[in-house]
Amino acid sequence: MGAFMSSANGLKLLVTGGAGFIGSALVRHIIEHTPHAVLVYDKLTYAGNLDSLRPVETSDRYRFVQGCITDLPRLKATFESFAPDIVMHLAAESHVDRSIDGPGTFIETNIAGTFTLLQASVGYWRALPSARHNRFRFLHVSTDEVFGSLGSTGHFSETTAYDPRSPYSSSKAASDHLVSAWHHTYGLPVVISNCSNNYGPYQFPEKLIPLMTINALEGKPLPVYGNGSNIRDWLHVDDHVRALMLIATTGTIGESYCVGGLCEKTNLDVVEAICEFMDELNPLDIPRTSLITFVNDRPGHDQRYAIDPGKIMRELGWKPRETFESGLRRTVGWYLGNQIWWERIRAKAYRGERLGVVA
Ligand code: NAD
Repeated sequence: MGAFMSSANGLKLLVTGGAGFIGSALVRHIIEHTPHAVLVYDKLTYAGNLDSLRPVETSDRYRFVQGCITDLPRLKATFESFAPDIVMHLAAESHVDRSIDGPGTFIETNIAGTFTLLQASVGYWRALPSARHNRFRFLHVSTDEVFGSLGSTGHFSETTAYDPRSPYSSSKAASDHLVSAWHHTYGLPVVISNCSNNYGPYQFPEKLIPLMTINALEGKPLPVYGNGSNIRDWLHVDDHVRALMLIATTGTIGESYCVGGLCEKTNLDVVEAICEFMDELNPLDIPRTSLITFVNDRPGHDQRYAIDPGKIMRELGWKPRETFESGLRRTVGWYLGNQIWWERIRAKAYRGERLGVVA
């Protein structure tokens, strides 16, 4: 890495969890499309992957620190040496099935870690000279799963009551409440985002779309939970990243923003679409849909998520650019063209086995 530089009109952004799926997309966006400088603070758990940051690693506006968000001295030292204008907090344990098997790390990272990061941020922010103190922001990146499960109608919005159901979503809900409390109690200038399911390149292959894509490519069974009727509201990760940049730089302090692509699909719709694209790009002698198998449902599986993104569209001028069909086609193509990226993960961190089954 060369000497670290921040350009004249650029901000300094501290991104926790920047080696993960969304974090690395955010960092690649910052380096490729903005003048800002970025420091990634990441523990490199099984989900963190420096290969996802290769495209930016030679930039003199990029720096990496390996650290845990529960480590207050390391966080303090990082704040002091980097002196961020904005904290973008994405570090988390993020997979619902893993939260069912082992909730402890979710409590530790998502709740205790967010608390520790808030403490480090408040201490740092209080000591800033006034112009930088006034400019400072803390963006907490959260999920629509904190709102629970919808029936066949209605949408989640910023005024929906929290009703989380899984260890993952309840730990994220707790962290949202901590962030909000640190604003009301200590005045920390926070903004919160609650986004629907993301998809795109560099997503860890335990999540639905990459798992099904890779299994389909290899001609393996495609295990769909329950009867496949659970509905998720899909958003391309690059559209999420653009929303995060807008919220962090222009969002109203103390407010939250729901982010979603108005793109509801059943899990079965998604898997069938992957089969169709994969049959087109890499045909087998059988149609891929014949590989679909229905397996026991996830315990407590939320039936439907759907986001009303009206507030961020009206107030911050955001709208998604990618349609699900084009975004999914490109994503399937990316996994086909980047086997080295996911084969390395499959060789050491995760082989595609079923997670999150309660005995
Ligand atoms: P991910 O699992 O791909 O990445 C998480 C990153 O956090 C990894 O790089 C990991 O090494 C790091 N990390 C984990 N524990 C840490 C710790 N204790 N200290 C420091 N770093 C740690 O997750 P993702 O899908 O990129 O999600 C990022 C954020 O966005 C999460 O907060 C998640 O709750 C939220 N979110 C995700 C989605 C989605 O569809 N993936 C949707 C809405 C919100």
